[in-house]
Amino acid sequence: MKILLLGRNGQVGWELQRALVPLGSVTALARDDRDGLCADLGQPDRLAATVRHVAPDVIVNAAAYTAVDQAEEEQEEAHAINATAPSVLAAEARALGALLVHYSTDYVFNGSGERPWNEGDKTAPLNVYGCSKREGERAVQESGCRHLIFRTSWVYAARGRNFIRTMLHLAAERDTLKVIGDQYGAPTGAELIADVTAQVLARLAAKPENGGLYHLAAAGETTWHEYARFVIARACDDNWPVKVQEEAIEKVSTGFLPVKAARPLNSRLDCTQVKETFGIVLPDWRSGVLRALQEILACEGKEAIS
Ligand code: NDP
Repeated sequence: MKILLLGRNGQVGWELQRALVPLGSVTALARDDRDGLCADLGQPDRLAATVRHVAPDVIVNAAAYTAVDQAEEEQEEAHAINATAPSVLAAEARALGALLVHYSTDYVFNGSGERPWNEGDKTAPLNVYGCSKREGERAVQESGCRHLIFRTSWVYAARGRNFIRTMLHLAAERDTLKVIGDQYGAPTGAELIADVTAQVLARLAAKPENGGLYHLAAAGETTWHEYARFVIARACDDNWPVKVQEEAIEKVSTGFLPVKAARPLNSRLDCTQVKETFGIVLPDWRSGVLRALQEILACEGKEAIS
């Protein structure tokens, strides 16, 4: 299997470089030119030329515009990377007969209610980022190319910018922290997303009719506040030099901390379809967070989060 991976330096892209290797030959590209190949999603013509040159069996698009608040002011750029580029990739995939793997987000939903969202639920994004990601999904779905789209939530990894690293950084500097306690979801490791992607790709070879859109998140649910307490408590257990104690992490409501982009209160994703269709087991969110924490705390050292 010949695989073209885009966005190799992102949280998910980095893990995909590892997870996809057993499936075949992987050409992993970042935004910058490498060996004359352009993988900048903001340059549609050159991106299309790269796909044609590599002529892969599978395109895995882990690149995205992910700055949720910044997107409110950079609507065009968010749209170009999250909607136009996937439509270009989908057209190229269709022409080649290749499979396109793409990632999307819980932010396509408006966060109403408490029931976990399933794949058939109506989308109604609350912010520019969510709209751009929904348009990207649609472009892929309507292109007629073979595809897999995984909607995931609250992504973290031992590297990259994410909630765990932000909390460790803040906890080392402050005596108290205020964290949102009324948004619900499941922190999902880039490692898990990459491993499931590889498993699904392997299983799809035998049953190509199982392509389509799937929700993919770790099991269980939490709030950002409980998640922060979990991270800081484990960091303390590990003798990490944190100033703030678990009990000094204050729960606040959405709206208390002003941000540019509105966020959904209910980001729970129902992952029954991916589990049943592909025989996938999704672990509780805590297990992956613990692993990432151990990696950050033990391997990278304090400099890594400062
Ligand atoms: P990251 O922000 O960690 O990585 C995104 C990658 O995209 C970066 O490597 C970035 O490169 C690259 N990129 C951005 N713009 C371009 C461009 N113009 N051309 C080429 N590459 C570009 O994202 P994640 O790994 O966390 O996200 C993976 C997927 O999961 C995305 O589709 C995202 O929307 C989705 N998702 C993410 C969530 C999260 O909490 N992070 C939650 C739900 C879904 P560079 O380093 O050069 O900027």
